[in-house]
Formats: sequence, C-alpha cells, structure tokens
Amino acid sequence: MEETKKVGIIKTGVKATVIAIYALQTIITVIMKVADKIITKSFKFRICDPSKIVQERLEQTLYLCRSLYNASLQERRDAYQTNRISINYQHQQNQLPEIKETNPEYKHIHSQVLQNVLKRCERAFDGFFRRIKAKQTPGFPRFKSASRYDSFCYPQSGFSLMGDKLTLSKIGKVKIKLSRAVIGKIKTCTIKKEIDKWFAIFTVETSAEALPKTGDSIGMDAGILSFMTLSDGTQIDNFKYYESTQKKLRTAQRRVARRKKGSNGRKKAVLLLRKIHQKIKNQRNDFQHKVSTYLVKTYDVICIEKLSILGLSRGILSKQMNDVAIGNFFLKLKYKAENADKRVIEVAPHWTSQDCSACGERVKKDLSVRVHHCLECGLILDRDENAAKNIHRLGLSLLAQTQTVRL
Ligand SMILES: [Zn+2]
Repeated sequence: MEETKKVGIIKTGVKATVIAIYALQTIITVIMKVADKIITKSFKFRICDPSKIVQERLEQTLYLCRSLYNASLQERRDAYQTNRISINYQHQQNQLPEIKETNPEYKHIHSQVLQNVLKRCERAFDGFFRRIKAKQTPGFPRFKSASRYDSFCYPQSGFSLMGDKLTLSKIGKVKIKLSRAVIGKIKTCTIKKEIDKWFAIFTVETSAEALPKTGDSIGMDAGILSFMTLSDGTQIDNFKYYESTQKKLRTAQRRVARRKKGSNGRKKAVLLLRKIHQKIKNQRNDFQHKVSTYLVKTYDVICIEKLSILGLSRGILSKQMNDVAIGNFFLKLKYKAENADKRVIEVAPHWTSQDCSACGERVKKDLSVRVHHCLECGLILDRDENAAKNIHRLGLSLLAQTQTVRL
C-alpha cells in the first residue's frame, strides 16, 4: 500500500512539473508573440500650401481616379445586371494600358495609384457579394461624387519622404506639417482632400508594444449628459469645444436653408457648413484618441456595453448619432487595448442602468431619472455611475469565466 502511494505521489509530482514547464513555455510564447506582433498604424499630416502647379495636379489626379472608379463600377454593374457575372480585378487591370492610350491624361498618374482605384472598386463589390451570400439584400455599390471620392493612394511605391519633404511620382514635391515623428516602416501613402485642404496619410508597420500592467480595471457607461462615466465615479465630458461647435453648426444649417437654391450665397453657405462638419469630425477624433489612450494606459481591463444592442436598448432616434460616435470610440479603444496587451470586455447591456450595483435589486426608471435610488439598500448614486459599476462587475465575471474555460 505504502509503496504504491509513494509512486503515485512521485508520478503526480513529475506530472505537475511537466505541466508547469508547459505552462511556462506557453506564457513565454505569448509574451514573445505580443513583442513580435506587427501592427499597422497611420499618421496623418497636413500638406502645407502646395504650389499652384502641384495643386492642379493633385486635383486632376483625384478627378481622374474618381472617373476611373465610376467607370470601373459601371462595367462591373453592367456585367452583373446583364449576364450575372462578376468581373475580376485582373480583367480590369489588363485594360489600363488601353485606357492610357485612348485617354492620355491617365499617363500622368502613377500606375500603382490607378491599380489601387480598381482595387477599391473590387473591395466594394466583394462586400456586395458577401452580403448576397449572407442572404441580405444589398444595394449596388454606388457611384462616387466628388465629395465622396476624396483620396488616392500610392499602395507601395511612387512616393518618398525625406524629413518634411514628400515627393509624389507624377505630381511633384510637397512640404508636410510633420507634427510628430513617423515611427515604423512606411507601407502606403494616401493623399486626401478635406474640403479645401490636402493631407498625406502614411500607414506604417511597427511592432506592438505591450504597456506596463497597472493591476486596475474599470467599468464604463456611455452617458447621456457626459461622454462616459466610469465606475469609480469619474465623468469624462464631451470634448471641450463640443457645445460651441454644435452651436455654429446649427447656425450654418439654418443659413443654408434660408438661401435660395442654386444661388452663390447658398454655395458659400454649404461650403461653410461642410467646413464646420469637418472641424467637428476632427475634434471628435482627436478627443477620442486622447481618451482611449489614457484608458488603455491606466487600466488592464476595461468593461464596456456591447454596442450592437445599445441603440435598441435606448430606443431614441436622436441618440443614434451619438451611438455612432461611441461606436467609433470603442473601436479605437479595442484596437489600442489589443496592441498594448490589455483587455476590453463587452457585456450585454440588459438592465445595467436599472439594477442596483450594491444589492442587485431592480429599480426601474426611465431616461429622465438621473439618479439611482434603491429603496432596498438605500443606495443613492448617479444613474450612469450605477450603470458603470454594473458593467464593471459583469465584465469581470465574464473575464473570470473565459479564463476558467481556457485553463
Ligand atoms: Zn440596492
């Protein structure tokens, strides 16, 4: 009896050691994977006052790329509608030399830029066919107007960056406002027009850098009055200029509505309105980057509400735009967390704003009720903070479950 018992213990001991070594190896591999992981980042810079000739070439390139896009779309649409066939990229790419012969202005565009236009069209159609396969009823990819087709891309070569000087093949040299250093290997260069300004966007490949662990976790609720409320009670307000730009936006919208259709005054008013929209978009983006970076640095685990059901659970149309903004913010957060080896946990939003975060009692309240007041345990708390606390708790229990499954 004694003997076998001993053997048993020894066996278990050996087994445990083997498991431990395995575990250690796995941990090391995981760490190495994070260190080795290549991520894509993008850097966007303003192009400083291009010369008149360069500006004309930029405009002309964008115009011709858009025409090519629409023509390529037309060809694909016709082929699909008349013969139910899909034209592939290669077929269209083979036509480029011929296009250049009949339309010599296309010779003034770098060939990879043109290929990229056809690739974009292919992507639009791939999405279309994917939706058909998924038994949805998608609309055809649409023709692009000048305001919708606002960029062209050097996907591999044809550009070089030396300090703040950017050379674009067939276009010329431009100076960019290098607001930060480009770190990593530059892969593509996209030239984008935003109303009356030009930008260069570089995508670079660089290795992911895990951020130091802080041991902290947090829950977060998208507020109605504030942008986000954290489970520790911190309120993150909307960006600083939000109110003032919203006011300007409303004034500009009214001005457009007042002016006569087709008049010069209206054209001017529309331009101003577009500029304000763009400004808000940029400010919002900036703000979202700052907040998401801060959160990922500060917390190892961030619990949020799953957004796909968020709109429905709130059921208010006027908040839809806000939900789009929140969706974009969550995307940034998830992307940054993944690159930093942190976690974003999404929980189902059912009852998160109703249940008491202290005792679990359901305290029904509509949107106008800003304070959670639990008669069961006496907790009085800001509505969003209560929700954030619930989200935090649910997120951590979800995390615990997935970790058990993995073991
Ligand atoms: Zn309670």
